[in-house]
Amino acid sequence: MVFPVSREPRIQCDVVRGTGPALLVHGGAWDIPPEEREAHETGALAAARLGLGSLRGGASALDTVEAVVTLLEDDPALNAGTGSVLNRRGEAVLDASIMDGEDLRVGGVAAVRTIRNPVRVARRVIEATRQVLLAGPGAEEFAREQGFEALRPEELVVPREVERLRDHQARRRAAVPGDTVGAVAIDGAGRIAAAGSTGGTLNKRPGRVGDTPLPGAGLYADSRVGGVACTGWGEGIARLSMARAVLARMEGGQDPADAARELLAACWSRLGGTAGLLIVTPDARLVTAWSTPRMARGWAHGGMETPAAAA
Ligand code: ASP
Repeated sequence: MVFPVSREPRIQCDVVRGTGPALLVHGGAWDIPPEEREAHETGALAAARLGLGSLRGGASALDTVEAVVTLLEDDPALNAGTGSVLNRRGEAVLDASIMDGEDLRVGGVAAVRTIRNPVRVARRVIEATRQVLLAGPGAEEFAREQGFEALRPEELVVPREVERLRDHQARRRAAVPGDTVGAVAIDGAGRIAAAGSTGGTLNKRPGRVGDTPLPGAGLYADSRVGGVACTGWGEGIARLSMARAVLARMEGGQDPADAARELLAACWSRLGGTAGLLIVTPDARLVTAWSTPRMARGWAHGGMETPAAAA
């Protein structure tokens, strides 16, 4: 359970001191059921492997997080793109965004149903428009203009999620977050970028948009300070402007792990919810912190022979 949480959650944190190009990926912070853990770990590992290969090959942080999140969107085990959680009506409705920490360009799409890889369309928002966020039918029209294939909305729906929604509605529970995906990377030139993609919260109200496409809430990247991607209870993350709030603390000289812990503590003590986040710093420190029972994550940097993952 991610929200509301009645007992003070335990905040967990991993810090890896990386060298050279580096990245962190996540496959969501929540109470991942035992039978789904292996698939989450495998997905995060594959994404970290792809990301490290891309960075070692000289790709930019921006191209790398786009490629990594595209791979995670296509993984049906995860709540993004194909395999997303469903809203109250049984529809997969997606949000995604991507940010370049060099020039603070950011692009997002929200509440889309006919796009296989929303993060790729979000990237096109950066490249082909002067806007930050396109939503609903306008975003879908833009995707068509940019040459993206029009999916039938049912193509994003997998049987596991139909079952999960049915079970959830039978028990009359509130909307809960699932396994959103995200990535933050620093490339060989010191450029930082972040991206995220999600189906949002299970059983969400039609029209609901979460934190994932909102710059400053679900993600932020500034090569001078660091990059952040959040997951978990989107309303809480948005109310705290979590990604930017972490970076503001780091700009003031605070240690990134302490900044992450503070935000997660505030999410529970002030709002009663839980979340998780990734931080990559300009000196390639990789920080993952979460107040949910689990967080699926993968990490890699220039000094590692092979990437690692845990769920
Ligand atoms: N933060 C996402 C949302 O609220 C859900 C998640 O991270 O699992 O839309």
